[in-house]
Amino acid sequence: MLRPYSPESLTDFSREENRAAFAAALARVKAEVIGRAYPMIIDGQPVTTAAGTVSVNPSRPAEQIASFPEGDASHADRAIEAAARAFPAWSRVPVADRARYLLRAAAEMRRRKHEFSAIMVLEVGKSWYEADADTAEAIDFMTFYAHQALRITDSSGMLAVYPPEQLSLTYIPLGVGAVIPPWNFPNAIPAGMTAAGLVTGNTLVLKPAEQSPLIAYKMAELFWDQGLPAGVLNFLTGPGEIVGARMVAHPQTRFISFTGSKAVGIQINEVAAKVQPGQKWLKRAILEMGGKDAVLVDETADLAAAAQGVVDSAFGFQGQKCSAGSRAILVDAIYDQIVPQIVERAAALSIGAPDAGADVHQGPVIDIEAMNRIMSYVELGTQEGKLLLGGEPLATPEGGYFIPPTIFGDVPPDARVAQEEIFGPVLALIRARDFDHALEIANSTEYGLTGAVFSGSRERLERARAEFHVGNLYLNRKCTGALVGVHPFGGFNMSGTDSKAGGPDYLLLFTQAKSVAERL
Ligand code: NAD
Repeated sequence: MLRPYSPESLTDFSREENRAAFAAALARVKAEVIGRAYPMIIDGQPVTTAAGTVSVNPSRPAEQIASFPEGDASHADRAIEAAARAFPAWSRVPVADRARYLLRAAAEMRRRKHEFSAIMVLEVGKSWYEADADTAEAIDFMTFYAHQALRITDSSGMLAVYPPEQLSLTYIPLGVGAVIPPWNFPNAIPAGMTAAGLVTGNTLVLKPAEQSPLIAYKMAELFWDQGLPAGVLNFLTGPGEIVGARMVAHPQTRFISFTGSKAVGIQINEVAAKVQPGQKWLKRAILEMGGKDAVLVDETADLAAAAQGVVDSAFGFQGQKCSAGSRAILVDAIYDQIVPQIVERAAALSIGAPDAGADVHQGPVIDIEAMNRIMSYVELGTQEGKLLLGGEPLATPEGGYFIPPTIFGDVPPDARVAQEEIFGPVLALIRARDFDHALEIANSTEYGLTGAVFSGSRERLERARAEFHVGNLYLNRKCTGALVGVHPFGGFNMSGTDSKAGGPDYLLLFTQAKSVAERL
């Protein structure tokens, strides 16, 4: 009997012993883990290539974090075929045994928690707090899905009583899955998608984002180290548009589990829909995409709490979250009063290389492409609104990709900086006439992922419940920080297929139901 699931608690970095333990993990990772070459893993075997690809520290881009092979379409073919060969045996491993792999991986990650978080501080520039939350979420996904698999696999008890027949309803695996995560939750998202695929009896090919292969490799290693059979979890590196694209198109791929941008999600959806020669099924595409999330504040709200909620939603991990509150919609009656509070709180956020200590709040953005894209939006924002804070990259001797919190005021609701996902530390403040207008603006983008409302009015909170069209709505709190098993996560419209990761229905997406009736 498993203990009931509850989310992993976060590390309290105000305590000296926790700071010391994290600093020690960072030193250990710097000495023993980074700066090395790692292979791809296909059919249980290490595979290398002549050309390599590296991940670097975005705080100091000259610092190489890891080098990996530059995989191509032929590696994708080999990995998918290995996964297809491993599928029949793995699909018949009892669910309780498959769940044990997840629970053991979760236990091992918990034991080495700071090591995983330290890798993310270096490879993607997360603050200690954000990295710790990412690792906690990875542990939660593995634990939660182990519990859920045991709950759903044999659902015969859900059927009606029908005495002439003996009935069963079981959720069986689909086949080979292509797992394609983003770099922004580089431990939690690969861990969650991998754990869900494996525990339901599928075999997988995991290809992490180019920016964050090391943390994904270390997560996958937890499974290989337990003697997961060869071919069950294959690991590829290389360009998404080559390796990932082939994984999606391969006729033996049965499903795709993708989290990333709208543009790539749409492309995968199209390719997955096309039946390839020799393909015997319609591929299932589980696609979680971007957001342009809003925090709405009305005149009945606690303004101090709302200002803090706006800042936390906008700037956590430099705004590089699909759930980031990149729009604050403020009703006219309090606009002039709350804006200085928001600007003041954002201006106080400390910025720097996050390995310097727990007090660094804002690290770098992920890479030079991101920096250029974000800065082009900043330039646009100066035409579309009024620059209130930031707006200039922060020059550092090591050339890190630092952009301080940047805020634009009086941005029209239909401005591009108010409609398009920027995915960086840029916040658009939008003035609304009243609550009705604010709600209308909130629903005016093509996305529908998260949203928050700060209001003291019961009637308005109830209206937001009904009318604010997002997959994850938060009332009187920030719009980031969904917890596994607590806030099932996924969005509407162009935010994706609303898979509700970390929710009770998620594993069903990785399965098909088999109904058997035997006449007695
Ligand atoms: P991205 O779309 O650029 O890349 C995501 C993954 O897709 C990477 O592994 C990449 O290598 C791969 N890829 C790229 N081109 C491909 C192709 N043609 N075929 C197959 N795979 C391909 O996204 P990103 O920059 O890594 O992540 C940021 C985006 O992810 C943002 O838009 C963010 O909102 C979104 N995101 C969404 C959620 C969610 O739950 N909805 C969570 C996190 C991030």
